Amino acid sequence: MLIVQKFGGTSVGDLERIGNVASRVSATKKAGNDVIVVVSAMSGETNKLVGYAEHFSSNPPKAEMDMLLSSGERVTASLLSIALNEMGHEAVSMTGRKAGIITDSLHTKARIEEINPSAMNSAIKDGKIIVVAGFQGISLEGNVTTLGRGGSDLSAVAIAGAVEADLCEIYTDVSGIYTTDPRIEPKAKKLDKISYDEMLELSSLGAKVLQNRSVELAKKLNVNLVTRTSFSNEEGTLITKEEYIMEKPLVSGIALDKNQARISLMGVTDRPGIASDIFTKLADSDVNIDMIIQNKAHDGSTNIDFTVPMNDLNDAKAVVDTFVDNGEVDADSYNDKICKVSIVGVGMKSHAGVAAKAFSTMANQNININMISTSEIKVSMVIDEEHANLAVKSLHDAYELDK
Ligand code: ADP
Ligand code: ASP
Ligand code: MG
Repeated sequence: MLIVQKFGGTSVGDLERIGNVASRVSATKKAGNDVIVVVSAMSGETNKLVGYAEHFSSNPPKAEMDMLLSSGERVTASLLSIALNEMGHEAVSMTGRKAGIITDSLHTKARIEEINPSAMNSAIKDGKIIVVAGFQGISLEGNVTTLGRGGSDLSAVAIAGAVEADLCEIYTDVSGIYTTDPRIEPKAKKLDKISYDEMLELSSLGAKVLQNRSVELAKKLNVNLVTRTSFSNEEGTLITKEEYIMEKPLVSGIALDKNQARISLMGVTDRPGIASDIFTKLADSDVNIDMIIQNKAHDGSTNIDFTVPMNDLNDAKAVVDTFVDNGEVDADSYNDKICKVSIVGVGMKSHAGVAAKAFSTMANQNININMISTSEIKVSMVIDEEHANLAVKSLHDAYELDK
């Protein structure tokens, strides 16, 4: 088999753990498989580098951030390759460029345009173990890019698709996908299987166990994706097509996203096209908008509230300020002490009353809901951040996810 194995930050968190990863990769190779390994930076490393940049600037050039942040993954890739060579294997580390990962030039959250796997294919043909530095690519202009936080998951899935791997294993510090973050709710249960669509919602709504774009791509390319722990041989969770899952619970999981900020625009001039103007400008600045609420104020103007990921807040502020400056918006304000809690499940499609139960659960805990959005398979609520864990735990109980 050709297997892609991705090891996250905690799994390569110190030299001893990199040694453990080398043993695991070695065993996979010795069992007769071809292996491409994708590694993250050592845990805490990327945040440390972000902190270094913030020492000099609150808004550093994004291309420089990519130069800086991509270095973390090179360290682990080369160290793991050195360890594997020492164990008698022929291993070779590759940067994103060498692995042929071509992206657009949207620095700090670049999209993969294509993968040219020729260097990887020829190394595999020569029997080598490849260790790719995750999270990074190269733009058509030849600049180093990174794929957004958690982006090594995307590197792994994209490579698995490009080389037509039989399996893509994501090794992390928990033994699979749980009904909710087991660090928040220790009663959370591990799922044997989950559909691509549910996983995509959970990831997009804050469950960082898999980066959302990696799930999106896995679905598109039909990659056999498994999440498991690097600390034991316990079976993980298979992320697969909905039709391969017999049991379809009403709610499969609960996600929490503390990384959101709310932007409120007061006294927005009420004219056709204003929302289009504001949100087009935000889109042009690559700000990801999530929930939007618009309502009419008494004086004929409107108020518009929306949420953005914290990473996009600076860019969003810059855009919004231009509307305040030109007088189309009276005032703006920001609140980053919010969070979004969501319930996700394909079973919701065919059942009424799932959302109502979520709202009454919040009411019973005296938690005020600020914003709501729903889709076929999810219900999301924005609440004050101080209630985050209580909300997750009470929803977990209400839908009996520990049973
Ligand atoms: P890595 O460094 O290996 O990429 P991450 O920290 O990105 O790992 O993701 C793993 C973490 O995701 C877990 O430690 C856990 O706290 C968190 N997590 C959030 N939601 C879930 C969930 N539903 N199932 C499992 N883990 C989750
Ligand atoms: N090191 C990067 C991050 O911390 C990418 C990753 O770990 O997947 O976001
Ligand atoms: Mg991760």
